[in-house]
Amino acid sequence: MLIPARTVKLTTRTDTDVRRTLFHASRKMIGPWCFIDHFGPSEQTEGMQVAAHPHIGLQTVTWLFSGEIEHRDSLGTVQAIRPGQLNLMKAGNGISHSEKSEANGQPLHFMQLWLALPEESRNAVGGFEHLAALPRQDLGAGTLTVLAGNIMGSNAPTTIYSPLVAAEIQFSIDGQVSFTVNPAFEHGVVLAQGVARINGVELSPGDLSYFPTDSAEIAIHAGTNAILLVIGGEPFGEKIVMWWNFIARTRDEIQEARASWNARTERFGDFEDDLGPWIPAPNMPNVILQPR
Ligand code: MN
Repeated sequence: MLIPARTVKLTTRTDTDVRRTLFHASRKMIGPWCFIDHFGPSEQTEGMQVAAHPHIGLQTVTWLFSGEIEHRDSLGTVQAIRPGQLNLMKAGNGISHSEKSEANGQPLHFMQLWLALPEESRNAVGGFEHLAALPRQDLGAGTLTVLAGNIMGSNAPTTIYSPLVAAEIQFSIDGQVSFTVNPAFEHGVVLAQGVARINGVELSPGDLSYFPTDSAEIAIHAGTNAILLVIGGEPFGEKIVMWWNFIARTRDEIQEARASWNARTERFGDFEDDLGPWIPAPNMPNVILQPR
Protein backbone atom coordinates (compact mmCIF):
# COMPACT_ATOMS: atom_id res chain seq x y z
CA MET A 1 0.00 0.00 0.00
CA LEU A 2 1.30 3.44 -0.96
CA ILE A 3 0.80 6.43 1.35
CA PRO A 4 1.42 9.53 -0.75
CA ALA A 5 3.13 12.50 0.95
CA ARG A 6 1.11 15.66 1.45
CA THR A 7 2.67 19.12 1.61
CA VAL A 8 2.11 21.05 4.84
CA LYS A 9 3.69 24.06 6.55
CA LEU A 10 6.40 23.20 9.07
CA THR A 11 5.15 25.87 11.50
CA THR A 12 2.49 28.56 11.47
CA ARG A 13 5.28 31.16 11.67
CA THR A 14 7.37 30.27 8.64
CA ASP A 15 6.58 29.61 5.01
CA THR A 16 8.60 26.39 4.99
CA ASP A 17 6.97 23.34 3.41
CA VAL A 18 7.49 19.74 4.48
CA ARG A 19 6.19 16.47 3.02
CA ARG A 20 4.23 14.51 5.63
CA THR A 21 3.10 10.88 5.44
CA LEU A 22 2.24 9.96 9.02
CA PHE A 23 -0.20 10.47 10.49
CA HIS A 24 -2.45 9.65 7.53
CA ALA A 25 -6.19 9.03 7.31
CA SER A 26 -5.60 5.44 6.17
CA ARG A 27 -2.74 4.70 8.57
CA LYS A 28 -2.27 6.32 11.98
CA MET A 29 0.89 4.52 13.03
CA ILE A 30 3.51 2.02 11.93
CA GLY A 31 4.56 0.27 15.13
CA PRO A 32 5.24 3.18 17.53
CA TRP A 33 6.08 5.54 14.62
CA CYS A 34 3.35 8.16 14.45
CA PHE A 35 4.78 11.14 12.60
CA ILE A 36 7.08 11.54 9.58
CA ASP A 37 8.16 14.87 8.11
CA HIS A 38 10.47 15.07 5.10
CA PHE A 39 12.17 18.42 4.53
CA GLY A 40 14.12 19.48 1.42
CA PRO A 41 16.55 19.30 -0.18
CA SER A 42 16.33 23.08 0.04
CA GLU A 43 18.90 25.79 -0.70
CA GLN A 44 17.06 27.95 1.81
CA THR A 45 19.59 28.08 4.67
CA GLU A 46 17.04 29.67 6.98
CA GLY A 47 14.71 26.76 6.23
CA MET A 48 14.65 25.28 9.70
CA GLN A 49 14.01 27.97 12.31
CA VAL A 50 11.75 26.42 14.91
CA ALA A 51 11.77 28.38 18.17
CA ALA A 52 11.22 26.88 21.63
CA HIS A 53 8.26 24.49 21.78
CA PRO A 54 7.30 21.60 24.07
CA HIS A 55 6.73 17.85 23.69
CA ILE A 56 5.28 15.10 25.86
CA GLY A 57 4.93 11.34 25.47
CA LEU A 58 7.25 10.86 22.47
CA GLN A 59 10.80 10.62 21.16
CA THR A 60 11.87 12.85 18.27
CA VAL A 61 14.22 11.17 15.81
CA THR A 62 16.17 13.51 13.53
CA TRP A 63 18.23 12.20 10.59
CA LEU A 64 20.04 14.39 8.07
CA PHE A 65 20.92 13.63 4.46
CA SER A 66 22.61 16.99 3.88
CA GLY A 67 23.21 20.28 5.75
CA GLU A 68 23.43 20.91 9.47
CA ILE A 69 20.97 21.63 12.30
CA GLU A 70 21.64 22.89 15.81
CA HIS A 71 19.44 21.40 18.54
CA ARG A 72 18.96 23.05 21.95
CA ASP A 73 16.76 21.78 24.76
CA SER A 74 15.70 22.37 28.35
CA LEU A 75 18.10 19.67 29.61
CA GLY A 76 20.90 22.08 28.63
CA THR A 77 21.80 20.20 25.44
CA VAL A 78 23.40 22.12 22.56
CA GLN A 79 24.14 19.66 19.77
CA ALA A 80 24.92 20.09 16.09
CA ILE A 81 23.73 17.27 13.87
CA ARG A 82 25.28 16.38 10.50
CA PRO A 83 24.56 13.70 7.87
CA GLY A 84 25.10 10.16 9.13
CA GLN A 85 24.33 11.15 12.73
CA LEU A 86 21.19 10.68 14.79
CA ASN A 87 19.59 13.03 17.30
CA LEU A 88 17.12 11.37 19.62
CA MET A 89 15.17 13.38 22.17
CA LYS A 90 12.94 11.72 24.76
CA ALA A 91 10.18 14.06 25.87
CA GLY A 92 8.82 11.91 28.69
CA ASN A 93 6.59 14.03 30.91
CA GLY A 94 7.82 17.29 29.41
CA ILE A 95 10.73 18.87 27.54
CA SER A 96 11.19 21.94 25.35
CA HIS A 97 13.59 22.42 22.45
CA SER A 98 14.44 24.52 19.41
CA GLU A 99 15.97 23.66 16.06
CA LYS A 100 17.93 25.91 13.75
CA SER A 101 19.56 25.17 10.41
CA GLU A 102 23.19 26.26 10.03
CA ALA A 103 24.51 27.74 6.81
CA ASN A 104 27.32 25.28 6.03
CA GLY A 105 27.15 25.57 2.25
CA GLN A 106 25.07 22.42 1.82
CA PRO A 107 21.36 22.28 1.01
CA LEU A 108 19.26 21.28 4.01
CA HIS A 109 17.69 17.82 3.66
CA PHE A 110 16.42 15.74 6.56
CA MET A 111 13.61 13.72 8.09
CA GLN A 112 12.12 14.08 11.52
CA LEU A 113 10.03 11.28 12.94
CA TRP A 114 8.18 10.81 16.21
CA LEU A 115 7.95 7.62 18.25
CA ALA A 116 5.09 7.22 20.71
CA LEU A 117 6.42 6.17 24.12
CA PRO A 118 4.64 3.21 25.74
CA GLU A 119 2.78 3.62 29.04
CA GLU A 120 5.72 2.58 31.27
CA SER A 121 8.09 5.24 29.88
CA ARG A 122 5.88 8.07 28.65
CA ASN A 123 5.87 9.91 32.00
CA ALA A 124 9.58 9.46 32.74
CA VAL A 125 12.07 12.32 32.82
CA GLY A 126 13.32 13.67 29.49
CA GLY A 127 16.56 12.67 27.81
CA PHE A 128 18.74 13.41 24.82
CA GLU A 129 21.11 11.21 22.83
CA HIS A 130 23.42 11.98 19.91
CA LEU A 131 24.81 9.03 17.94
CA ALA A 132 27.74 10.12 15.80
CA ALA A 133 28.43 6.70 14.26
CA LEU A 134 26.03 3.87 13.46
CA PRO A 135 26.47 0.32 12.11
CA ARG A 136 26.71 -0.03 8.34
CA GLN A 137 26.39 -2.99 6.02
CA ASP A 138 26.99 -3.45 2.30
CA LEU A 139 23.88 -4.75 0.50
CA GLY A 140 25.30 -4.80 -3.03
CA ALA A 141 23.62 -1.96 -4.90
CA GLY A 142 23.38 0.03 -1.69
CA THR A 143 24.56 0.53 1.88
CA LEU A 144 22.40 -0.07 4.93
CA THR A 145 22.87 2.12 8.02
CA VAL A 146 21.02 1.01 11.16
CA LEU A 147 19.55 3.95 13.10
CA ALA A 148 17.69 2.02 15.77
CA GLY A 149 16.94 -1.59 16.66
CA ASN A 150 18.24 -4.61 14.76
CA ILE A 151 18.10 -5.40 11.05
CA MET A 152 20.07 -7.94 8.98
CA GLY A 153 22.03 -8.91 12.09
CA SER A 154 23.27 -5.36 12.75
CA ASN A 155 22.27 -3.67 15.99
CA ALA A 156 22.21 0.10 16.68
CA PRO A 157 23.11 1.28 20.21
CA THR A 158 20.17 3.73 20.17
CA THR A 159 17.98 3.76 23.33
CA ILE A 160 14.45 2.66 22.44
CA TYR A 161 11.40 1.85 24.56
CA SER A 162 9.43 -0.64 22.46
CA PRO A 163 10.36 -3.22 19.78
CA LEU A 164 11.19 -1.19 16.66
CA VAL A 165 13.67 -0.66 13.85
CA ALA A 166 14.93 2.20 11.67
CA ALA A 167 17.49 2.05 8.87
CA GLU A 168 18.67 4.08 5.89
CA ILE A 169 19.48 2.60 2.50
CA GLN A 170 21.68 4.61 0.12
CA PHE A 171 21.96 3.27 -3.41
CA SER A 172 25.41 3.63 -5.00
CA ILE A 173 24.31 2.17 -8.34
CA ASP A 174 21.06 1.51 -10.16
CA GLY A 175 19.75 -1.85 -8.99
CA GLN A 176 17.84 -3.88 -6.44
CA VAL A 177 18.38 -4.28 -2.73
CA SER A 178 16.52 -6.86 -0.64
CA PHE A 179 16.67 -7.43 3.07
CA THR A 180 14.91 -9.61 5.60
CA VAL A 181 12.68 -8.03 8.23
CA ASN A 182 11.08 -9.13 11.49
CA PRO A 183 7.67 -10.63 10.53
CA ALA A 184 6.26 -9.55 13.93
CA PHE A 185 6.77 -5.93 12.82
CA GLU A 186 4.85 -3.76 10.38
CA HIS A 187 7.12 -1.59 8.20
CA GLY A 188 7.20 1.54 6.11
CA VAL A 189 9.73 2.56 3.48
CA VAL A 190 9.97 6.28 2.70
CA LEU A 191 11.81 7.66 -0.32
CA ALA A 192 14.03 10.63 0.59
CA GLN A 193 15.80 11.20 -2.72
CA GLY A 194 15.96 9.85 -6.26
CA VAL A 195 13.67 7.31 -7.90
CA ALA A 196 12.51 3.99 -6.48
CA ARG A 197 10.00 1.24 -7.15
CA ILE A 198 8.58 -1.08 -4.50
CA ASN A 199 6.25 -3.97 -5.46
CA GLY A 200 5.95 -2.41 -8.92
CA VAL A 201 4.79 0.98 -7.56
CA GLU A 202 6.85 4.13 -8.27
CA LEU A 203 7.53 6.37 -5.28
CA SER A 204 8.04 10.13 -5.36
CA PRO A 205 10.20 11.73 -2.67
CA GLY A 206 8.28 11.77 0.62
CA ASP A 207 6.00 8.83 -0.35
CA LEU A 208 5.76 5.80 1.93
CA SER A 209 5.25 2.15 1.03
CA TYR A 210 3.52 0.18 3.82
CA PHE A 211 4.17 -3.49 4.68
CA PRO A 212 1.84 -5.19 7.19
CA THR A 213 3.05 -7.77 9.71
CA ASP A 214 4.04 -11.21 8.34
CA SER A 215 6.25 -9.66 5.67
CA ALA A 216 9.58 -11.51 5.72
CA GLU A 217 11.52 -9.61 3.06
CA ILE A 218 11.44 -6.18 1.44
CA ALA A 219 12.84 -5.56 -2.06
CA ILE A 220 13.53 -2.09 -3.43
CA HIS A 221 14.46 -1.20 -7.02
CA ALA A 222 16.09 2.21 -7.14
CA GLY A 223 18.36 4.46 -9.15
CA THR A 224 21.90 5.66 -8.41
CA ASN A 225 22.03 7.95 -5.34
CA ALA A 226 18.49 7.07 -4.23
CA ILE A 227 18.05 7.24 -0.45
CA LEU A 228 15.26 5.49 1.48
CA LEU A 229 14.39 5.21 5.13
CA VAL A 230 12.97 1.95 6.53
CA ILE A 231 10.96 2.09 9.75
CA GLY A 232 9.09 -0.66 11.57
CA GLY A 233 7.87 -1.96 14.85
CA GLU A 234 5.49 -4.21 16.70
CA PRO A 235 1.95 -2.85 16.24
CA PHE A 236 1.55 -0.31 19.08
CA GLY A 237 -0.81 -1.89 21.61
CA GLU A 238 -2.11 1.38 23.09
CA LYS A 239 -4.50 3.98 21.76
CA ILE A 240 -2.95 7.44 21.72
CA VAL A 241 -4.29 10.98 21.59
CA MET A 242 -2.09 13.21 19.44
CA TRP A 243 -2.50 16.97 19.29
CA TRP A 244 0.03 19.67 18.28
CA ASN A 245 3.36 18.55 19.83
CA PHE A 246 1.83 16.29 22.43
CA ILE A 247 1.10 12.56 22.61
CA ALA A 248 -1.06 11.42 25.52
CA ARG A 249 -3.90 9.03 26.30
CA THR A 250 -6.73 11.46 27.16
CA ARG A 251 -7.90 14.92 26.17
CA ASP A 252 -7.45 16.05 29.79
CA GLU A 253 -3.74 15.21 29.67
CA ILE A 254 -3.38 17.23 26.48
CA GLN A 255 -5.26 20.17 28.00
CA GLU A 256 -3.07 20.09 31.07
CA ALA A 257 0.14 20.04 28.99
CA ARG A 258 -1.15 22.88 26.81
CA ALA A 259 -2.06 25.01 29.83
CA SER A 260 1.23 24.47 31.62
CA TRP A 261 3.26 25.30 28.49
CA ASN A 262 1.32 28.48 27.81
CA ALA A 263 1.63 29.47 31.50
CA ARG A 264 5.38 28.73 31.28
CA THR A 265 5.35 26.50 34.37
CA GLU A 266 8.52 24.57 35.26
CA ARG A 267 7.21 21.38 33.67
CA PHE A 268 8.89 22.08 30.30
CA GLY A 269 12.05 23.80 31.60
CA ASP A 270 13.81 26.66 29.86
CA PHE A 271 16.91 27.39 27.77
CA GLU A 272 18.58 30.14 25.74
CA ASP A 273 18.72 30.49 21.96
CA ASP A 274 18.61 33.28 19.37
CA LEU A 275 15.44 32.15 17.61
CA GLY A 276 13.08 34.64 19.18
CA PRO A 277 10.11 34.03 21.44
CA TRP A 278 8.76 30.59 22.38
CA ILE A 279 5.87 29.20 20.34
CA PRO A 280 2.57 29.21 22.25
CA ALA A 281 0.23 26.25 21.89
CA PRO A 282 -2.74 27.11 19.65
CA ASN A 283 -6.34 26.98 20.83
CA MET A 284 -7.68 23.49 21.22
CA PRO A 285 -10.42 22.42 18.82
CA ASN A 286 -13.90 21.98 20.27
CA VAL A 287 -14.08 18.56 18.72
CA ILE A 288 -13.54 15.58 20.96
CA LEU A 289 -10.03 14.19 20.59
CA GLN A 290 -10.58 10.47 20.11
CA PRO A 291 -7.97 8.02 21.23
CA ARG A 292 -6.88 6.02 18.17
MN1 MN B 1 9.96 19.55 18.15
